[in-house]
Amino acid sequence: MPKRVIILGSTGSIGCNALAVAENLPAEFEIVGLAAGSNWRRMSEQVRRWKPRVAVLTNPESAEALDHAVGGAGTSVWSGPDSLVRLINEVECDLVLSAIVGVAGLPATLAAVQRGLTVGLANKESLVVAGELMVNAATASGARLIPVDSEHSAIYQSLHSGRHEEIERILLTASGGPFRTWTREQMRAASIADAMRHPTWSMGPKITIDSATMMNKALEIIEAKWLFDVPAERIEVVIHPESIIHSMVAFHDGSIVAQMGQPDMRTPIQYAMTYPRRLAGAGARLDFSKLERMHFEPPDIERFPALRLGHAVAVQGGTAGVAFNAANEAAVERFRAGRMGFLEIAETVEDVLRRHNFEKHPGLDTLMTVDAWARNEVMQCVVA
Ligand code: NAD
Ligand code: MG
Repeated sequence: MPKRVIILGSTGSIGCNALAVAENLPAEFEIVGLAAGSNWRRMSEQVRRWKPRVAVLTNPESAEALDHAVGGAGTSVWSGPDSLVRLINEVECDLVLSAIVGVAGLPATLAAVQRGLTVGLANKESLVVAGELMVNAATASGARLIPVDSEHSAIYQSLHSGRHEEIERILLTASGGPFRTWTREQMRAASIADAMRHPTWSMGPKITIDSATMMNKALEIIEAKWLFDVPAERIEVVIHPESIIHSMVAFHDGSIVAQMGQPDMRTPIQYAMTYPRRLAGAGARLDFSKLERMHFEPPDIERFPALRLGHAVAVQGGTAGVAFNAANEAAVERFRAGRMGFLEIAETVEDVLRRHNFEKHPGLDTLMTVDAWARNEVMQCVVA
């Protein structure tokens, strides 16, 4: 029987790669639900190809355009933000691939976890914002969270070599992004185009900016803490510009287990989609005869303060994650609109984080209140 799959964020970079994985293994998957924000043209191609039971576009005008384009073809078109949770609750499936960008992915991801479904998690923001709720819900329902993020997939795979109490450290690798060798002065004048030029990975715009600030690695420290139940003090960042080692686990006996491969998101996406099996992957293979050398550097938290903030937030827990994430999402939006300088992204996030009303064990309502407050604080700050 093919696995029945719902893809949240199907028109994005991860979503399209997930469908490429399914295209390469057509007998393995039945796509029963697709969801995205507003890209009705791409969604209509996907609906024609995969004939899901339901296609969601949260933007009502886009959903209407989609309905015009594919109406009557056997796929129901739903719209509005609530339709994401409805999709999870009403369409039977074996796997939810959570790949909406930002906190917008949280309600449906949490719903999938509460239903006890297997979730392939790309949407790291949902763990950063609501890690405690997500982990508690997964424990209560028996849901399995399989990371899609390449680093966390590498850690998940490496952890098969030992037991939880045998972990000494998690070594989270980072390419260093486009500004790895830039000075603070150079970064101060960085343009949007400069920040969008990622050296090794091709990804959606928000995570590409997050990689330039290294906020992405900060989010990943917090993500790793929740996924693997390892304290932040034992999660280390290692700069590895070639992005061949996707991350590592150091065990108490001194062994370090790494997972390697070409930087191609189809590999970790496929691992999550076919888990626990490993099937033939479409991506290029790593050829050690052509790999001249691999480099490693310690991270520079003076130039990339996001890393220091990520560690602090992972230690603090509570509402720190939501304040951090919301301020970052809003600051990235402002930077991309040309209304904030590059270095101000981390400065603003730090400021909002420091000023927010901390609560240790927030419920969803509190999280959403802090989220809205933090975004508003960023929108209020003086134009650069
Ligand atoms: P993207 O911008 O390419 O795609 C985002 C998707 O989310 C699109 O389908 C869009 O329509 C949908 N979306 C956005 N807002 C929405 C809303 N309000 N309601 C419903 N749908 C909405 O982003 P991406 O690069 O594919 O990243 C997706 C997630 O995966 C992010 O959390 C990112 O951090 C994570 N991730 C991405 C990569 C990568 O290679 N792209 C790697 C690791 C982790
Ligand atoms: Mg990653």
